[in-house]
Amino acid sequence: MISTGQALEAIFALISPLPVETVSLRAAVGRVLAKPVAATRDQPPFAASAMDGYAVASATPGDVLRVIGEAQAGARFAGMVKAGEAVRIFTGAPVPEGASRIVIQEDVTRAGDQITLGRKLDSSTYIRPAAGDFAVGTTLESPCRLTPAHVALLASMNVPDVVVYWRAKVALISTGDELVMPGETPDEDQIIASNALGLEAMLTLAGADVRLLPIARDTEANLRTVLALAEDADLIVTIGGASVGDHDLVGKVALADGLDRAFYKVAMRPGKPLMAGRLGDAVLIGLPGNPVSSMVCGRVFLRPALDAFHGLAAQPAIRQTLPLAHALPANGPREHYMRARIATQDGTRVLAPFDRQDSALQTVLAQADALAIRPPNDPARAAGETLEWIDI
Ligand code: AMP
Ligand code: MG
Repeated sequence: MISTGQALEAIFALISPLPVETVSLRAAVGRVLAKPVAATRDQPPFAASAMDGYAVASATPGDVLRVIGEAQAGARFAGMVKAGEAVRIFTGAPVPEGASRIVIQEDVTRAGDQITLGRKLDSSTYIRPAAGDFAVGTTLESPCRLTPAHVALLASMNVPDVVVYWRAKVALISTGDELVMPGETPDEDQIIASNALGLEAMLTLAGADVRLLPIARDTEANLRTVLALAEDADLIVTIGGASVGDHDLVGKVALADGLDRAFYKVAMRPGKPLMAGRLGDAVLIGLPGNPVSSMVCGRVFLRPALDAFHGLAAQPAIRQTLPLAHALPANGPREHYMRARIATQDGTRVLAPFDRQDSALQTVLAQADALAIRPPNDPARAAGETLEWIDI
């Protein structure tokens, strides 16, 4: 059996970044920038006031100055401020020529056109220098997954469109005679195909364009029919039917249909019966059916795979470390991804794996903040020892 690291490398070897397209900035959040963007303007384009107050050439406590005009956001004061003068100014307004600072209105008493500066002035000039945020040529590098803050920055650069990688088309296929879709009425031997929706949600948040295909029943003919519907996908994800039971048909049917299988079975818990390979133009990843196994494999393999499709660095989920909240017994020969909570003990953040780790327990997954990772054959651990974890 190969390790999770080897399995992920084998998956990355099947994937090339997708082509790129131009989209409106307004549709760009979550997409991965494919071409760097350089600013073609300075921000702010002029020295701007950071406060409401008075622009002055110089300020000494107690000075009496004459107000000669006003500057507001969008409408500058055209003249010059000289010694003994002040220009009433508002936040965002261009600072008039000759002004060295803004005296905030709280530090001023005004009578008609005359102001008197207070006894104590603070040291800040309250002037935002021209290009203080970014200058012409400041660049947002690619690849970069665009956050709301990036969108705001690019908007401020007056960039209406950006070049991004295509969203990976993912076809999700549940397999099993026992499954019905959420909202349908299961008969007494049936359950709901929950994983399909969980994975759809996970992969959509990761930027994929997910299509949920009809549930494949446990016959070769039906599975073949549903797989054929996935033809145009970049990534086909099957759920269940991946073990070697009489009703586990994914490997058998996909191999007969031409799957070039890269691996089958990974030394991990939950999630051992995982497979991946190339099927026609698509990458196929076959996940185990157990609800938690499929979500853990989604986190460990599918999200990094989508990053690779979307032009980001091909790398595993980022691991962090925390001290353990309580002792753990020795681990077996497979890498164990334990659902865990991040708690606080005596003011320190700690990792608290749940006692119940059965791979069918979705309630435990829904309470988890993290997956704590036990290496294969990890010895027993005491409370306070550090352990690696990834977000879920
Ligand atoms: P399998 O790998 O097909 O043997 O499935 C393993 C377990 O996961 C069985 O208990 C299935 O009923 C369950 N299962 C399979 N697919 C799904 C699904 N899409 N949603 C929820 N449970 C599933
Ligand atoms: Mg099944």
